[in-house]
Amino acid sequence: MKKISCILLTLISLYLPLNTFAWGAEGHKMIAAIAYQFLDKSVKDSVDQYLLGTSIEEASVWMDVVRSDHNFDYLKPMHYVNVEKGEEYKQATGDNIINELNEVVKQLHDYKHRTNEVANTDLKILIHLVGDLHQPLHVGYVTDKGGNKIQVTFFERGTNLHKLWDSELIERGRITKADCLKLMSKYSKSEIEENDLLKWMQQSRANLPAVYAFSDNRLGQDYLDKNIPIVEKQILYSGLRLAHLLNTIFGK
Ligand SMILES: [Zn+2]
Repeated sequence: MKKISCILLTLISLYLPLNTFAWGAEGHKMIAAIAYQFLDKSVKDSVDQYLLGTSIEEASVWMDVVRSDHNFDYLKPMHYVNVEKGEEYKQATGDNIINELNEVVKQLHDYKHRTNEVANTDLKILIHLVGDLHQPLHVGYVTDKGGNKIQVTFFERGTNLHKLWDSELIERGRITKADCLKLMSKYSKSEIEENDLLKWMQQSRANLPAVYAFSDNRLGQDYLDKNIPIVEKQILYSGLRLAHLLNTIFGK
């Protein structure tokens, strides 16, 4: 019995860290699957080629999987950028999601002159970070570290606001890729087909008032119902924008 509890604890602790970063695995995999669905045929072939046998869903969580490997510590600041409430993001050098995305997009535009290994890493970073950019608390406020410092209960279980938005709304709301695709009729083509990272960030941040719309920290069904449409829209937009960006890069 003791052995079983031990194994269970190990499994739980292995699983927990994944939940604390970015959209959880579920969110990233849905975004990747939506993107793949909207890739041009030749672009799909190029993406498959540079993913070196990994599926796009697996590639989308690579940046979270390598968090436990110190060789990849340099990637840790790339998952987000926090900007104080009421302030605008100012372009500056430094490690953050915007600068890293700009860098990998630039490198991927020149993929024919890169090694397969470099293109592979850039592609995995791109697929992950376009997703993170659409999680409003990855472009949240400095003071509470993107909601990480806000303790809440969700259906009586203790968590923090950041984790709630990474994975718990998706899990509790049982959000599926099909749910997100149902919003297709309402999406704005011009918003999707504009490869503008700063606009994507602003739109993601525009959801922050809704994210923080609660008076006490006990959240439940009401909060879930109000925010499911935001999560679904962000996942859909992220997937479609990623597809458009990949079609632009590899469709040349
Ligand atoms: Zn991330």
